[in-house]
Amino acid sequence: MKFSSFLIKYAEIAIKGGNRKYFENALVTQIRNTLKYVEGEFRVIRENGRIYVNALSDYDFEEVTKALKTIFGIYAFCPVLRIEDHGFEDLEEQTARYMEEMYPEKEPLTFKVEARRARKDFPVDSQTMNREVGAYLLDRFSWLSVDVHDPDVLLRIEIRDENINIYSREIKGQGGMPLGTAGKGMLLLSGGIDSPAAGYLMSKRGLFLDAVYFHAPPYTSERAKQKVVDLARIISRYAGTIRLHVINFTDIQMAIYEMCPHEELTIIMRRYMMRIAEHIARENDCGCLITGESLGQVASQTTDSLSCTNEVCTLPVFRPFIAFDKLEIISIAERIGTYETSILPYEDCCTIFVAKHPVTHPRSEKIKESEEKLKDKEEALIKEALENDEVLSISWHD
Ligand code: ATP
Ligand code: MG
Repeated sequence: MKFSSFLIKYAEIAIKGGNRKYFENALVTQIRNTLKYVEGEFRVIRENGRIYVNALSDYDFEEVTKALKTIFGIYAFCPVLRIEDHGFEDLEEQTARYMEEMYPEKEPLTFKVEARRARKDFPVDSQTMNREVGAYLLDRFSWLSVDVHDPDVLLRIEIRDENINIYSREIKGQGGMPLGTAGKGMLLLSGGIDSPAAGYLMSKRGLFLDAVYFHAPPYTSERAKQKVVDLARIISRYAGTIRLHVINFTDIQMAIYEMCPHEELTIIMRRYMMRIAEHIARENDCGCLITGESLGQVASQTTDSLSCTNEVCTLPVFRPFIAFDKLEIISIAERIGTYETSILPYEDCCTIFVAKHPVTHPRSEKIKESEEKLKDKEEALIKEALENDEVLSISWHD
């Protein structure tokens, strides 16, 4: 069946009161941006508090469906058969054709008609339409029966100014909020399982993403960096273009390694990552930092450790996985397509410098004392790292 239109459903935006237009516009923009890469010509319009994607040319149904499924803010979408108004009898006939083509198996199905007459000069009112179309379909198709409470098929008919919409199928979307409506966040992106998925989850709440990756050549390889680029690209499918800052962390890491107690390496390293990430975040209009941390997962993710890393920055740090089990994180990573890449075995900079027995309950005073030893080098080291920031613009469509 040729669907000439898709009705876009958005749950949460609808309750945004005065801001509703802002959210709708952001969603429309995002749909347009995404469909640019799908073959065919589409018009995305707002109409009577709804968003429609109208196809102006031939298109591939699977491709459009796939694209719409990546867009945050779309709760669900319905492929719509649009017909012209040629009277009620024709409407009945077209509805029957729709049912036949949509449910070609002709296996027993329950249904309910839900008609809405937005244009009041249509000669049949909604109640009568429900009854009459229902009776007509029952009469034509022996495999149909009515269930008004919990039907398999909720068949909607909408009489509108320009045309009539017939639809029943609802395809689940990503949910969440349209990109950009929550501003932009700086994702600390490693090559692991957690941080890419954390970026995805926060972006789903309406954040554009920038990302920062700390690498430590020659201790970490070019392949480890490429893995992070690949991960960013997979997330950009949902989150839009991501500017990835690659920061050379080797000198800072070596300095920490030489000057600080080894059981504190990880925590001090994490603090420097956060400091630098916050600096880049502020320079790039990011209102928050995002990490993949999960309470208790490793030594640097106890409450004391998180508190210790947290105190070096003032931007809010979003940790969407704080309460998630590893298996739950993995299932999200699998769903969004990052898992396979994340488990490739290239070392990241943390695994090479880890101590055998890292502190699990660091005290802030003690850590600050250890960091004192770096104080005269610190400024120059950070400055150099920032000056050599390699910025890559990463997009799914490149
Ligand atoms: P992940 O699976 O995201 O690597 P993890 O469980 O391995 O997380 P850690 O290695 O302790 O945890 O890192 C905690 C968080 O710090 C990561 O989720 C990520 O946000 C950030 N991070 C760690 N290493 C790096 C890095 N090399 N570059 C950028 N961010 C990093
Ligand atoms: Mg890691």
